[in-house]
Amino acid sequence: MAKLEVHQFPCLNDNYGYLLHDSESGLTAAIDTPEIAPIEAALAAKNWKLTHIFNTHHHADHSGGNLALKEKWQCTIIGSAPDADRIPGIDIRVADGDEFNFGNHRVRVFDVSGHTIGHIAFYCPDDDILFSGDALFSLGCGRLFEGTPAQMWTSLQKLMDLPDDTLVYCAHEYTQANARFALSVEPDNADLQARAAEIDRLRAEGKPTVPSSLGLEKATNPFLRPASPALQRTIDMEGRDLTEVFAETRSRKDTF
Ligand code: ZN
Ligand code: FE
Repeated sequence: MAKLEVHQFPCLNDNYGYLLHDSESGLTAAIDTPEIAPIEAALAAKNWKLTHIFNTHHHADHSGGNLALKEKWQCTIIGSAPDADRIPGIDIRVADGDEFNFGNHRVRVFDVSGHTIGHIAFYCPDDDILFSGDALFSLGCGRLFEGTPAQMWTSLQKLMDLPDDTLVYCAHEYTQANARFALSVEPDNADLQARAAEIDRLRAEGKPTVPSSLGLEKATNPFLRPASPALQRTIDMEGRDLTEVFAETRSRKDTF
C-alpha cells in the first residue's frame, strides 16, 4: 500500500493548509479550510479533486472555507461530534477513539480538548501522520480558550503515546516564537538549543519548521515536559503534580 501524500502550503498569516491524498483511491482531504484560494491553487497544482474536509475545530481559520469548498466540490465534511453545531456543513460526526477509512488507510480520531472543547486530532497509523490542529504545535500548544489546563494535559498525553517517528503536522507556523519561550523554561536542554538554532536557520531561509516528529517534540516541547526536573526547577515547581506544572508553564507562556 502506497503511503498517503501530504501537500503543505501557507494560508492567511501563519496557518498551514494541508491536502492529504491517497493515490490508490484518488481521495483527497483538506485538513481544515483556513483560506479558499490557496487550497484551490494547491488542488489545481496537484491535479487532485477535493473529496473530503477533515476539521480539527470550529475557529474561522480552520473551518471558514468549508461551505464554499463543499458547494464547489460536493465533498464530505468530517468533524467533531461535540463541536458539530459549530462546524459549517458537517456531514460525519466523529469522537474520541473513532476510526474510519480513507481509501485503504485508517484514520483515528483523538479528542484533544483544551484550546476549544471538542477539538480533535486526526492520526493515520499506517502512515505515521498526525494532524494536531491547534492542540499540539511545534514546540508549543494551543491557548486555552475553552478548556482547563487539566483537560489540555490529558489531551497532550494521548498524543505522547503515539510512536516517536510520527510526523506532527500542526496548523500554525508559531515555532520560532515558541522556541524563545521553550528556552526560557529549559535553557540547558541541548536538544532544544540545537533545534532552536535549526529553526532560526530555516526561518531565515523562509522555510517551514513543520512538520516535526513526535520524538523531537517529546525531547524539546516544554508542554510535553512537565516531568523534566530542569523545567520544574526553572519555574519553581519541583516535585509538584504534573498537571500543576503544565498549568504553570501554560500560564507563563500566556504572558511571555
Ligand atoms: Zn484555533
Ligand atoms: Fe488556529
